[in-house]
Amino acid sequence: MIQIDLTGQVAVVTGGSSGIGLATAELFLRAGASVAICGRDADRLAAAEAALNAQFPGAQLLAQSCDVLDADAVAGFAKAVQDRFGRTDMLVNNAGQGRVSTFADTTDEAWREELDLKYFGVIRPTRAFLPMLRDAKHAAIVCVNSLLALQPEPHMVATSSARAGLLSLVKSLATELAPQHIRVNSILIGIVESGQWRRRYATQAKPGQSWEDWTGELARSKHIPLGRFGLPEEAAQALFYLATPLSSYTTGSHIDVSGGVARHV
Ligand code: NDP
Repeated sequence: MIQIDLTGQVAVVTGGSSGIGLATAELFLRAGASVAICGRDADRLAAAEAALNAQFPGAQLLAQSCDVLDADAVAGFAKAVQDRFGRTDMLVNNAGQGRVSTFADTTDEAWREELDLKYFGVIRPTRAFLPMLRDAKHAAIVCVNSLLALQPEPHMVATSSARAGLLSLVKSLATELAPQHIRVNSILIGIVESGQWRRRYATQAKPGQSWEDWTGELARSKHIPLGRFGLPEEAAQALFYLATPLSSYTTGSHIDVSGGVARHV
């Protein structure tokens, strides 16, 4: 793996207490950056903080309870980062989860909730951290998006629609923020083993069915060319690339991390 030294730089990862966000926080810490993570569930956040501190003794790590949909909490998170580290160089907008529903069974309220999460989960942290990002020499924002943005699925109608909107938002932000030397990109993921899939396994697997068996069956039924789910660290590596000067001439773009599921050229 290409090495880059991020000593003295600060990375913020929303939803850094599990799955892709936690794997991304690990990569930043390994590269020497100071890292701030947030999540809603205090126990999950504390467990992630303990695991990261055990893995990286002496790490510069801030873990704060924060719902990215709560403007005051997000402002408080940004202030805590400012007070502790004095800067932000990289913001990874990762917090969230998908919604499984067809048009027939998605209520107005469900539509609003989903649009709220997908848009404001990015808008609020971006707005709150922008003043610090503007002061950084090599600033970057990276959003975790889904291949659903380009290849919608009817059984995830609201998520797919919101994901397409997020792709557009990333493009607009990239253009608006380029003169301020802030790059904005996203990753489009397929299926990545993570907390939300572990929770689905707990409720959907056949009695006695192993995780490997269940995910293998799903990978086959979903015709994933690489034949398996992605790993959180595989998504994290793409996020790391886009967040750091390794991708210094890339903005308004995305990386496909879907195991080959995309059908378009
Ligand atoms: P996980 O459930 O493992 O992690 C999600 C993280 O986001 C947790 O830390 C969770 O903590 C946090 N989170 C969720 N909602 C909020 C919120 N409102 N405010 C603050 N933190 C929040 O799942 P993944 O790692 O898979 O998910 C990461 C991102 O990837 C999500 O945006 C998801 O939609 C996206 N994605 C994932 C796919 C996959 O197959 N795994 C596919 C397509 C997209 P807590 O619950 O304690 O708040």
